[in-house]
Amino acid sequence: CGIVGYLGTKNASEVIVDGLSKLEYRGYDSAGVAVCNDGELEIRKFKGRLAVLAEDIEKNEMKGHLGIGHTRWATHGEPSDVNSHPHFNKDKTIAVVHNGIIENYMELKEELKEDGVEFRSETDTEVIAHLVDKYYEGNLLDAVYKTVARLRGAYALGVICKDNEDELVAVRKDSPLIAGVGEGENFIASDIPALLKYTRKVYFLENGEVVHIKGNELKIYDSERNPVEKEIYDVKWDI
Ligand code: GLU
Repeated sequence: CGIVGYLGTKNASEVIVDGLSKLEYRGYDSAGVAVCNDGELEIRKFKGRLAVLAEDIEKNEMKGHLGIGHTRWATHGEPSDVNSHPHFNKDKTIAVVHNGIIENYMELKEELKEDGVEFRSETDTEVIAHLVDKYYEGNLLDAVYKTVARLRGAYALGVICKDNEDELVAVRKDSPLIAGVGEGENFIASDIPALLKYTRKVYFLENGEVVHIKGNELKIYDSERNPVEKEIYDVKWDI
């Protein structure tokens, strides 16, 4: 159960798999990555060890500078490739990773099914991908705010969209998430060890806070969408 997200100049999948490997201590049963490249989302996800994902990527490179990755500790739906994260919407234009539990996912699923959405997985998480899709009208940050307003439960989320190769949105409530700031690159992660190879400058996020990484900039907003001025924390220790 870990999340890593990256936007910068490096190969995103490499940074993400490396970061996820530093979160393995948290326990997990599956792993996956989504990257945005050439206006498409590419998603790979497998039940089992992170090494299964890493070997697949080694054999067949994933290009792109924007991505999100996940190690899953299944709560809803057995460990399987399909139930692994990232989850995505119908046209694979939006990808989501999630740690936590969405308590009202059954009612959201019913509502989305009435809209004509077909579900692939048995997870609580998949509703989030379809909700972001439902609310997306060209502005990913708006869509994420509208989506989290519908969610009850615990979540750390990372969201990307194929339209925006330079944008990542993340939010947390009752599940851990930090943001990291590097030189011309920014990160999200469940915990500090995932980022130490790349940066020591991190923000600790409070419940309800939203991270908006756009181009070189990382901004944090509260649940009412007011900008939050936070002190950056300089990590002094090593792993
Ligand atoms: N509840 C989600 C699932 O079962 C996320 C689990 C997690 O935190 O890894 O897929």
